[in-house]
Amino acid sequence: MATASPRRPGSAGAVAAVDPGAVERRTLEIGRELFARVRGASGPLRRSWWENQFMDWTLDDPEVRAQLFRFIDVLPALRSPEAIRRHLAEYLAEADGRAPWWLRTALAWSPPGTDRERWLAASATWAAETMAHKFIAGATPDEALETVLKLRSRRLAFTADLLGEAVISEAEADVYQQTCLDLIRGLAAPLAAQPEIPLIDRDQNGPIPRVNLSLKLSSLTTHFDPIHAERSIDEVGVRLRPILRTARDLGAYIHVDMEQYHYRALSYELFKRVLAEPEFRDWPDVGIVVQAYQPDAEDELRDLLNWVETRGAPITIRLVKGAYWDSEVLTARGLGWPEPVHLQKWRSDASYERCTRFLMEHHQALHPAIASHNIRSLAHAIATAEALGLPKAAIELQTLHGMGDAIQDALVGLGFRTRVYTPYGAMLPGMAYLVRRLLENTSNDSFLKASAGAGAPIDELLRNPEETGAMLARSRPQAPAPSSDSSPSSPLPPFRNEPITDFAKAENRRAMAEALRKVERELGQTYSLIINGRDVETPGRWIDSHDPSQSSRIVGRVASAGAEHADAALESARAAVSTWGAVAPEDRAAIMVRAAAIMRGRRFELSAWEVFECGKPWREADADVCEAIDFCEFYAREMIRLAVPRVRDAPGETNRCEPLPRGVAVVIPPWNFPLAIPCGTTVAPLVAGNPVILKPAEQSPIIARKLVEILHEAGVPADALHYLPGPGEEVGQALVNDPRVDVISFTGSRDVGLLINRQAAETPPGQNHVKRVLAEMGGKNAIIIDDDADLDEAVVGVLASAFGYAGQKCSACSRVVVLEGIYDAFLARLVESAKALKIGPAADPETFVGPVINAEARKRILEYKTLAQSEGRVVLDLDVSSIADQGFYVGPMIVADARPTARIAREEIFGPLLSVIKARDLTEALAIANGVSYALTGGLYSRSPENIARVRREFRVGNLYINRTITGALVDRQPFGGFKLSGVGAKAGGSDYLHEFLLVRSITENTMRRGFSPEEMAGI
Ligand SMILES: Cc1cc2nc3c(=O)[nH]c(=O)nc-3n(C[C@H](O)[C@H](O)[C@H](O)COP(=O)(O)OP(=O)(O)OC[C@H]3O[C@@H](n4cnc5c(N)ncnc54)[C@H](O)[C@@H]3O)c2cc1C
Repeated sequence: MATASPRRPGSAGAVAAVDPGAVERRTLEIGRELFARVRGASGPLRRSWWENQFMDWTLDDPEVRAQLFRFIDVLPALRSPEAIRRHLAEYLAEADGRAPWWLRTALAWSPPGTDRERWLAASATWAAETMAHKFIAGATPDEALETVLKLRSRRLAFTADLLGEAVISEAEADVYQQTCLDLIRGLAAPLAAQPEIPLIDRDQNGPIPRVNLSLKLSSLTTHFDPIHAERSIDEVGVRLRPILRTARDLGAYIHVDMEQYHYRALSYELFKRVLAEPEFRDWPDVGIVVQAYQPDAEDELRDLLNWVETRGAPITIRLVKGAYWDSEVLTARGLGWPEPVHLQKWRSDASYERCTRFLMEHHQALHPAIASHNIRSLAHAIATAEALGLPKAAIELQTLHGMGDAIQDALVGLGFRTRVYTPYGAMLPGMAYLVRRLLENTSNDSFLKASAGAGAPIDELLRNPEETGAMLARSRPQAPAPSSDSSPSSPLPPFRNEPITDFAKAENRRAMAEALRKVERELGQTYSLIINGRDVETPGRWIDSHDPSQSSRIVGRVASAGAEHADAALESARAAVSTWGAVAPEDRAAIMVRAAAIMRGRRFELSAWEVFECGKPWREADADVCEAIDFCEFYAREMIRLAVPRVRDAPGETNRCEPLPRGVAVVIPPWNFPLAIPCGTTVAPLVAGNPVILKPAEQSPIIARKLVEILHEAGVPADALHYLPGPGEEVGQALVNDPRVDVISFTGSRDVGLLINRQAAETPPGQNHVKRVLAEMGGKNAIIIDDDADLDEAVVGVLASAFGYAGQKCSACSRVVVLEGIYDAFLARLVESAKALKIGPAADPETFVGPVINAEARKRILEYKTLAQSEGRVVLDLDVSSIADQGFYVGPMIVADARPTARIAREEIFGPLLSVIKARDLTEALAIANGVSYALTGGLYSRSPENIARVRREFRVGNLYINRTITGALVDRQPFGGFKLSGVGAKAGGSDYLHEFLLVRSITENTMRRGFSPEEMAGI
């Protein structure tokens, strides 16, 4: 095989002047010609015509389309005709009778347990496989070669893409690498032996590689995450270099696909870093994708051009619009981030044309590969190349296998090198790809869909996108910018959750690293109590707060309160009941909003304190600070809402219900959400007008102190908030038992919660009220894995729920109940994936599992780990011996075949120990999941609408999550709290919560005076 000659980048300088009008006229000419060729080549005599018709007939209705895509998605996981029939029936039932008649008839004709059911299942599988084969080139190297040779016979070049979206274990990343290597080696010799086809085997400079492979960087490691960019680059580099070396040795070409926005900056950085290494820097047979749907696509091109000029050898740029539009928009909106893509189709199209022009102008450095099925985009690219005088061989046009076959032939007919992206791999990992292609083919914004059918108006389809934009602007005059406040009477804009930090942005990573350095310099200080605004020392009595990641390090020394301090704080708080309660609710709310603003301004610093004091990894710490901000903002709005009296006037009588603060609130939060829970449980009673005494956890007193300082700074009066760190048995007890206390808000262990509940029920002489207790007391949370679950998602979701923050969340998953049909497959992937979990100090951004909170916790968890040896089959016990002497580390453990009645499967462990329990069917799984004394969170991974509906009805937990992680409840969106022995009281972050801190007075006034009432008089 001819090896490619190195090609040097040309000067980016001299650019021929181009007349835009001429380019536009020529674009339309070329576009019409392409349309003529495409339409001439399609019709009922071509298979593709029937395929398109079939898709149109079947997938036109969006609801039917969504349900059928869900069916295709689950199909490879279904193992029996019964399961296939059932899922199809369930999905079509969701489409509300809008499914095509023939599908409904086929279902009705194939009742369960009959031969016809088997026929239906076989037909459905055949139809999905046929559809998959349209887009997927084959599952073995031989099939891939066969497809490639067929393409060559049509004078089409190819790029092979290995299917497989997410790798969730290092073993899977190894397989991906190996398959890349096998594919290059397997195709190199047979293709070298083929006679040359100059159109596709040469460019204007000479021979080009015949083997062309597209790969995804994220498939080369499980740890592809911008939060630790450097290590991602290292790890991917280790698997990427052998692929590059092999490709170079065998004269093959490697192209890097572009994935979601989250990976984008990291992918470019990695690409540039590795390909600038001495070994590869003169190698031109590489390329990367630029996505025109992202607003900074042109900047990216400029950046790549600069890089190529310093590197010295050219690369290829595949210009696409972008394959992830829907998910980018949904993800960003879900997180409250700005969407990273254009939001109007014409903008993506116009950006594509600007990028095309840029590429053509710099074609010697950035070889243009124009990847699109949009005839306007392609025609514009050809016209621009012509106008700039580029030889045809200087550009390449690219399409996807199975999409626009007629376009491919038309482009070849015009004499252009056309490369077909040919996905290769098994059906199962291919389903995500197939669904993406189907979505694209059927999306209303898709050119392919719009241009299908002989009647589609060509002039409209070929319209310049800028013109489309101008027309849209004329037809839809700009609406006035919506005010951020939807309700003119509310002093505050509507609540929205504080967006978590996007660590894909380098500036955020830098800010966090800087905050860690700053806080590290502040470690080791001493802190006093705060009673009535005064710092109070406790000579000789200290709490040392240790860094769990580095246990010898003292984060700070905090004064430790005793009963006498409780008395002083209570005295002051009691006095504030009338003054703080008399502050207008809106003014109290405004203080909380100010506190939120202060936290927002200091978010990285507060996160850094969490990293050091509680061993929270970056993302966990950041989410905790966001939740604290949410609590301030949310409860502020709630108070304003509740302060409006409820009015039920009747003739001659006014009736008002008005809220009143209860009195003094004692808040006893835990350490595991060191800012959010103290903040939420303090701010709620405060904003409701109750003075608060905060007794923080002994493990996290410094962050709690920061909170109190912030609330005072925001305007909470000195006597309305007191800070009393100290031992629970001493100062905690004194507070709980004191008759001056009206409300106790506790979050922590069940034993302590129940004790407080009992003690608070006492009404000693002199106490004229019954104390209100809110207690959040933990869980033994289960996730059920149905036998049709998506294992890629289930495994990742279970691991995150079980081992995030080392399992130290009351919402954490500690039991996974798996249906026997999928048990072995799930367990194998779970264990393999868990092996890749990074354990280490919380300050390291790569850490997923940090330390546990202290030595006592570690000892207790280790005892459970010992017990696990006899209560189940230990299938994973990650080794932490190399860091064990530095901090309180415990290796995550997975215990298979656990009995539901085993202690490890019943008792709350609060650490990284996960029991895996087998269930015969969903009935048994639900019985196991419900069979504990807790009812906090629970989860289900299933793709069966009926099973989902049943679990919704029968899984009795406070927070049920379906097909997602079971931790990370958001304020307002997912009010949080459980029942049974998981807790008493309203859900935190929900609309009932403030009621816990309010009394309600109903005030009735008889306004009748001798037969008339003022209201009626006014009405006459
Ligand atoms: C050979 C080849 C390789 C590819 N490789 C990649 C890759 O590595 N990474 C990648 O992300 N994509 C890749 N794609 C692109 C992607 O898969 C789609 O094929 C492509 O976006 C469809 O664009 P089009 O020009 O063919 O069709 P068109 O119908 O003209 O454009 C559809 C595209 O417009 C954009 N869009 C849709 N609705 C809107 C809207 N409301 N507002 C703004 N924009 C909108 C979306 O990007 C959508 O995909 C590749 C495409 C080809 C042909």
